[in-house]
Amino acid sequence: MIDKSVIADALDEIAALLELKGENDFKVRAYANAARLVRGSELDAAGFVREAQAGRIKGIGAALREKITTLFETGALPYLEELRAELPAGLFDMLRVPGLGAKKVRALREQLGIEELSDLEDACRQNRLVNLKGFGAKSQEKILAGIRQVVAYGGRFRLAPALPEAEALVAALRATGAAGRIEIVGSLRRWVETVHNINLLAVSSKPRELIDAFCDQPTVQKIDKRSTKFARVTLAGGIAADLRVVSEDEWAPALVHFTGSATHVERLTALAKKRGFELGERSLSRRGKPVVVESEADLYRALGLHDVPPELREGLDEIDLAAEREFPPLVTLQDLRGVLHVHSTYSDGVDTIRHLAESFRARGYQYLGLTDHSQSAAYAGGMKPDDVRRQHAEIDALNRELSPFRIFKGVESDILFDGSLDYDDEVLASFDFVIASVHSRFNLSEEEMTRRVVRALANPHTSILGHPTGRLLLTREGFQIDLDAVLEAAAKYGVAVELNAHPHRLDLDWRRHRRAKELGIPIPISPDAHELAGVEDVRYGVGVARKGGLTPHDVLNCWDVKQLAQWFARRKK
Ligand SMILES: [Zn+2]
Ligand SMILES: [Zn+2]
Repeated sequence: MIDKSVIADALDEIAALLELKGENDFKVRAYANAARLVRGSELDAAGFVREAQAGRIKGIGAALREKITTLFETGALPYLEELRAELPAGLFDMLRVPGLGAKKVRALREQLGIEELSDLEDACRQNRLVNLKGFGAKSQEKILAGIRQVVAYGGRFRLAPALPEAEALVAALRATGAAGRIEIVGSLRRWVETVHNINLLAVSSKPRELIDAFCDQPTVQKIDKRSTKFARVTLAGGIAADLRVVSEDEWAPALVHFTGSATHVERLTALAKKRGFELGERSLSRRGKPVVVESEADLYRALGLHDVPPELREGLDEIDLAAEREFPPLVTLQDLRGVLHVHSTYSDGVDTIRHLAESFRARGYQYLGLTDHSQSAAYAGGMKPDDVRRQHAEIDALNRELSPFRIFKGVESDILFDGSLDYDDEVLASFDFVIASVHSRFNLSEEEMTRRVVRALANPHTSILGHPTGRLLLTREGFQIDLDAVLEAAAKYGVAVELNAHPHRLDLDWRRHRRAKELGIPIPISPDAHELAGVEDVRYGVGVARKGGLTPHDVLNCWDVKQLAQWFARRKK
């Protein structure tokens, strides 16, 4: 027997779909109103249908009566199914974003051509909703937050917001004074690009107090498990967080164990066994006698290994490598000398060049690589040749004023359908460097896309390939492309390949860094910032670059201003 709420939901959905299709208001309202009548009625479903059939319910005309009856009697409604099939599936995902009703989704579709969640996300990031009637900066921000909720599907979360939430918990728990030590462990500590949950490990002489403080955090929505030394909670954003308390003696083995990965720990345990040790979840022992290790480095050393940075513990070949030699120091945030992919008010960025440059200089960077969008990117306010000339004059003046700080004249040029860049040679030659990016026609075959991108790499004006697969983590797969061929072409033509540090992208994937490094391809860690605050995203890029095993030498924007200027100029000869 069909429940009243099923009928009401179906009527509401029809109203929304009619609205999406742009049907007249009268019809839309009739369905929405009918849904309200069903919900508000004191009758049960059978009673309501009977009364409707008898024509005794005002507001339910012949067409509605027929649909309600069909649904009630058969459990299905072909009319609704047809409506669903008529509209692109992506619109339904958009409807799931809190605050986005059918009216707004329709406006986005009609005015910006958006039919998918990933396109909506792109549009928000490019500030295209700011000047759209019925939207604005505030609602754009809300929509972005809403998308984040919707895409937390599969129980996975991106590094942002997961990492900042974990850090806030650690800071709050440190402040209680109840934790002797406390660290983020698990996949977050390894900088895996998407994670299931937050894991914290602590040493405490007052475990109960610490667990209480954890469960009392304002971001905790639900306490799922709680004992004297362990708690699992769900935070407001939907991510689960565990806190585990161990003793001082257990700390180093537990840190290794709970940092993982499972495969790394498994291999380490096997190696320990081979060398006469037993490695447990919280202990290291030899022939039944505990071996005290105070740090992870101690533990690895006891097993005859060099210390393995957490980012590298994925169960690949890191244990073999650690048996042979020390890992070279991986890149850190402090190694960055500047940043190379930033948008200003000349395209879809929020901040002026002066504001960006002065802020960069104040934070100790030597340079800023400004890269507004090129002319074909009309949606992003791409620069016409006149804008480019105006921008270069402004940069020249600022460079004189702010010297030795340097603004590099860059551009993020669309790679056009045929692989050419977005200006003539004369305009292209006026830039210090060019990032070439694919922003359109994502659905080419692998062969076509590879040919298109390789052609852009062969262009002597191209300095850097931007976000090489176009992926958006948890929303959009990267486009089909033969990355090996692309990396080989980049090496051949002397082009750098970006690690886009935006937490939604993290593209080039860390699994490809080693290959790029072998080929001698420099990798800039670039925030793709559309506002000053966005520059902070380089931390996610640095984390992932470490995961890829990159050292400062491998990272283009760890080079100083002179080296970099020479490298840009060399391409141009
Ligand atoms: Zn881009
Ligand atoms: Zn960009």
